[in-house]
Amino acid sequence: MTSNTLPANFAELGLVPPLLARLTELEYQQPTPIQAQAIPSVLAGRDLIAGANTGSGKTATFALPMLQQLHADKPANRHSRKGNYVSGLVLVPTRELAKQVADSIKSYSVHFNGALKTVAVFGGVSANTQMLALRGGTDILVATPGRLLDLISSNAIKLDEVKTLVLDEADRMLSLGFTDELEQLLALVPKAKQTLLFSATFPEKVQTLTKELLRDPIEIQVQSADASTLVQRVFTVNRGEKTALLAHLIKQHQWRQSLIFVNAKNSCNHLAQKLAKRGISAEVFHGDKGQGARSRVLDAFKAGEIHVLIATDIAARGLDIEKLPVVINFDLPRSPADYMHRIGRSGRAGEVGLALSLIDYEDYHHFRVIEKKNKIKLEREEVEGFKVDEDFKEEYFSLAKPMAKPEGSGKKKNKKSK
Ligand code: AMP
Repeated sequence: MTSNTLPANFAELGLVPPLLARLTELEYQQPTPIQAQAIPSVLAGRDLIAGANTGSGKTATFALPMLQQLHADKPANRHSRKGNYVSGLVLVPTRELAKQVADSIKSYSVHFNGALKTVAVFGGVSANTQMLALRGGTDILVATPGRLLDLISSNAIKLDEVKTLVLDEADRMLSLGFTDELEQLLALVPKAKQTLLFSATFPEKVQTLTKELLRDPIEIQVQSADASTLVQRVFTVNRGEKTALLAHLIKQHQWRQSLIFVNAKNSCNHLAQKLAKRGISAEVFHGDKGQGARSRVLDAFKAGEIHVLIATDIAARGLDIEKLPVVINFDLPRSPADYMHRIGRSGRAGEVGLALSLIDYEDYHHFRVIEKKNKIKLEREEVEGFKVDEDFKEEYFSLAKPMAKPEGSGKKKNKKSK
């Protein structure tokens, strides 16, 4: 399918009025590319493999058809249901994503007037409330694998009535070590079902999973970071001057909000303290914080009450923070895939965004790897007042030149200089 033939509005996708009305309220003017390509086939019952990241509109891609189908099926199935049934199962890697996806589904379904129940379950909080919520079964369950297995073993839920299975961020789920849990869960869902798999990347483990799980799927690949709406820039800086540069940028640009990525939980706190000394107040978001504290920080950030948030990669995936003006890589992510996930937090759904990477001498080679793997080439820039030392400059420029030339062959050997 080419983009010329794609439906330009939601009505053409075959969605029913209660969903269309909601999309109008949410001011979704037209389907994103993945929605336009996938929704008609998913509505027709096809399996789907989608190479898509957060920001592409992937949640609506599975949520809208799933809601429509389950709503249409519901009266017919009412009498066959057991008390602990689930019809649509969405598996996600993290608690934050579970809550976010469930919130989106609930929001999309408001005009079904409570006919469809959605529940989110995830670890880190008491299972009792979740068990209570699951009483009488649920139409849609959004779950992290570990907690779902716990709930199955205590009979709070059964998967033998699942009609639609969604694996969201499949690569993340497998890389977080959920392989065994996934296998156990997949053995519990019926063979006859519709399966929709979303993954930003397709390492071997994900490919094996797709082969085992999907029947004659349609395959769609969309770019997560849209070059036309996301500007990526790289600033070189002397080692030891990153914090000063960061503070300078925050003060100079007065961004409404910024999300700053570091690689370790401790670094979050250290950087927050250093920024505080420079008059900038920042909050931190990392895996050592309790679930309650994490939710509070995230809600406050989403509400715009926190202007600067320093986070580890736990925030790189899945978090949907509307219209984030800037994402800053203070530490470079370890994996090139994480670079794309991080920068995907900005410039979401057509908004213009900015992704900055601050690189010092030690980061230089790693950033080249990130660029190469992600097939991007960015010009190294210097910020006035933060010029790189002359000693390093020759080294920088000898490396930077081939990257700055768009027609560069890319075959030039790296000088290993660390
Ligand atoms: P997702 O990739 O599902 O995390 O969605 C990213 C963001 O885009 C969310 O805030 C959605 O509410 C929003 N969104 C999804 N589809 C559309 C659309 N067609 N038009 C405008 N915004 C959208």
